[in-house]
Amino acid sequence: MKTDFLLTDICLPDPSGDAGDYPIKTNYCIAVQEESICHIGPASEFNTIEAKNVINGHGQLALPGLINGHCHAPMTLFRGLADDLSLADWLNEHIFPAEAKHVTPDMVYWCSKLAAAEMILSGTTTVADSYFHEHHAARAFADVGLRAVVAQGVIDFPAPGVPDPQEKINHAAEFLSQWRDHPLVSPAVFAHSPYTCSSETLVAAKELARSENALFFIHVAETEQEAEMIQGRLGDSPVRHIHKLGILDSETVCIHAVWLDEQDLDILAETGVAVVVCPQSNLKLASGTAPLQALLARGIRVGIGTDGAASNNRLDLIQEMDICAKLHKLRNLDPVAVPVDKIINMATRDGASVLGLQKKNWATGGGEKSRYYSGQSRCTSSSTCAWLGSADLCCPRVGHSNRAD
Ligand SMILES: [Zn+2]
Repeated sequence: MKTDFLLTDICLPDPSGDAGDYPIKTNYCIAVQEESICHIGPASEFNTIEAKNVINGHGQLALPGLINGHCHAPMTLFRGLADDLSLADWLNEHIFPAEAKHVTPDMVYWCSKLAAAEMILSGTTTVADSYFHEHHAARAFADVGLRAVVAQGVIDFPAPGVPDPQEKINHAAEFLSQWRDHPLVSPAVFAHSPYTCSSETLVAAKELARSENALFFIHVAETEQEAEMIQGRLGDSPVRHIHKLGILDSETVCIHAVWLDEQDLDILAETGVAVVVCPQSNLKLASGTAPLQALLARGIRVGIGTDGAASNNRLDLIQEMDICAKLHKLRNLDPVAVPVDKIINMATRDGASVLGLQKKNWATGGGEKSRYYSGQSRCTSSSTCAWLGSADLCCPRVGHSNRAD
């Protein structure tokens, strides 16, 4: 058998592993034919497979394309704009005014392209993005060949592209219809938060998402201040508040989910929602630490995201995984609190499940082309990752330190 490309002597998460069991395999090989992975297996299965190009992985880790579960790509413009602030001061005093002044269709398009380049260079092949003027973010992702779930923002005050808040649901509906059935971009709805959206807005936004079979994203329980505000105003925790509104189901993705009590965790598990944690954003804004171990123990689908560059300050998912693993070792004073295979899961297989894209992630060795990303992204960098054509695969040079450099 002759293939286009062969990667030998790599370690990788077992593509046939069941949920909760995703061991790292060593001395594996990957064969690629016509931009599709045609076989993955131990070296012993590759004795008769030849290739036009062969790369020896020297025991490094190969991963399916990483999935950034939460981003505001256009915010690359605001990277480093304001530091050493709480979320409330950062948003109200700096970010919201900057957005009112600078966010235009051109800014969203070009800053999303810049974000896409940064993500691709660190191995991300899929992003869930939420912002305003998202039609132009979607154009940018489609142009560079990045798979994306793109969610139009809904908020109760005048926003970029939606000067009249009365039009926010209509605007989101128009966006959903524009991108329906696109091969790379899946349109979605993003309600900013329980503290910037009224109950009526949240219900209307969720109803729109349901009617279009679209995902619904919301920042929730991000800070203690938010939790206290919602409790004081509405008498419930943020999670219980949106649960009572009927927002939580398997097509809802809760971003951050830091300030949760036991009842909140039970609700998230019972309703089947997905959660995306953003550890570096929570670190920068001193928001807290999501109870990741408890979320995983309840079987909740959990992905990992960078959030926007303004609150990170990077869009590097390898670094996000590294920080996430270490953060939860510290939080729990337990070096195996969230093992490395769980973290890899969050950025790959489980991240895909959060976004409903599990059939497009990783391989079973069957050579089913439709299972793999077939965009046009091509990038080769000896220092960070090598892309195998447009197959959905990246191979960070992890070495002994277990991170890209
Ligand atoms: Zn966010």
